[in-house]
Amino acid sequence: MSIKPRNTNLSKSSLIRGIQCSKALYLYKYHYEQRDPVSRQQQDKFDRGHQVGKLAQSLFPGGKDCTPPNHYSYQQSIQATSALISAQYPVIYEAAFKFEGILIALDILVNRDGKWYAYEVKSSLKISQTYLQDISIQYHIIKSCGIELEDVFIVHINSDYVLKGETVNINELFKIVSVKEQVEALQLDIQAAINKARSVLSLHNAPEIETGIQCFKPYPCDFMGTCWKGQEKNPLFQVAGAQLLDKIQWVKSGINDMKDIPQEYLTSSRIKAQVEAHHTQKPFIKKEELKNFMDNIHFPVYCFDIEAFQPAIPVFEETYPFQAIPFQFSLHYSTSEDSSLIETEFISPPHQDGRELFLIHFLNSTEKPGQILVFNTLLEKGILFQLGKLYPQYAKSIKERIQRMVDLEIPFKKDWYYHPKMNGGYSIKNILPTIEQNTLSYDKINIKDGLDAMAIYQKLLREPETHDVQSVLDDLIDYCRMDTLGLYSIFLELKKAVKE
Ligand code: SF4
Repeated sequence: MSIKPRNTNLSKSSLIRGIQCSKALYLYKYHYEQRDPVSRQQQDKFDRGHQVGKLAQSLFPGGKDCTPPNHYSYQQSIQATSALISAQYPVIYEAAFKFEGILIALDILVNRDGKWYAYEVKSSLKISQTYLQDISIQYHIIKSCGIELEDVFIVHINSDYVLKGETVNINELFKIVSVKEQVEALQLDIQAAINKARSVLSLHNAPEIETGIQCFKPYPCDFMGTCWKGQEKNPLFQVAGAQLLDKIQWVKSGINDMKDIPQEYLTSSRIKAQVEAHHTQKPFIKKEELKNFMDNIHFPVYCFDIEAFQPAIPVFEETYPFQAIPFQFSLHYSTSEDSSLIETEFISPPHQDGRELFLIHFLNSTEKPGQILVFNTLLEKGILFQLGKLYPQYAKSIKERIQRMVDLEIPFKKDWYYHPKMNGGYSIKNILPTIEQNTLSYDKINIKDGLDAMAIYQKLLREPETHDVQSVLDDLIDYCRMDTLGLYSIFLELKKAVKE
């Protein structure tokens, strides 16, 4: 690798990266262009963090914001912060500090009676070890800059909060937890991490580090496209039901075919099914179990799928943080194998509480008898159950629909059916391409999976002005429709499998 001019400055995020993997730090600093593109889901997470951080500022109103106009102007933020501190300004947002080349920005710095208090905001429901490391770095730098912190807090979202009325009560939405004791206990580790990062950055080449568990924990590394090139296609990494550490071990010990997986792992029915299917290159089927299951499903059937979003900050009354809120469904109804499918859809425009309309539409569309096929009923049942509590007048009908639901994921979850082309994946997206003469494909549509659908809908809520709303809603409809059409194809395929 060629060496570019060295910039050995560090930031909190580069240090955190270095704690996870020295190579990740090196690549981030000197080969940034090799970083994987940011996915929609990651972007959604960043945007959510930003939104929550902004809202948390209102816990300490009237602060001066030191956010720089761009990434290259942090010196301005440092100077502004320093001036505000000298003036004992009561509240500073995005307070920036730099010590020996390490730059950090603290979410909120508060002065009370001449003492300083640090607050770092996290858009999550609990405090993780990484968050403690994160604020420990900030504490280290602020202290090194000569500011004594009387206390240090993590501000996070309160899982018990329920939105009453239309306006969020931020004092109830957030929990403020003192972590000074844990932060002080981590200071030696932070100094060691800084020393290690400096020695990594003085290297002429990226450190030789083998891929391993560190690539996934605590965060999926964003240099996997570089380090895992080629390896991701190794079928051993696709084995479902095996620990990642075991898979890494298999590959390191030279195993490169599923048939060579050590015998002791074949006690798992999941791994056994995959190994056998890959051996024969035919579907592995437990015919009796599958037949018993399929014999209980009769036409007419509905194929049903819900998409939901999970806002960190509740947007509708009587909802809690990260609650799954349904915004669309797709339904296909069929009376026989030869009949054409009848399609029904619902999508709620953003910023409109469409939950009751969603429910009415679903109940009306499923009035006729028929089992309701769902792939993994957890979300659908959970959402309908919540709606039943919110709108008790429909509770009886909801209960009746739930009783008619059949989980078509069961044959896959119980390993009664596995196709070698599923490649260790058990979702509709993995199963659909294994069906012969299937013309359905997620490649032909703009949204590829449920997390993407959620991220896009949440973005629409946050920034409707930056989107062609109707075309995004059309994309979401295409996606959800693909799920129920796919589900129907899988149903027919399983029926065929038990007949053969
Ligand atoms: S992909 Fe793994 S080995 Fe490569 S930089 Fe990231 S964590 Fe390190």
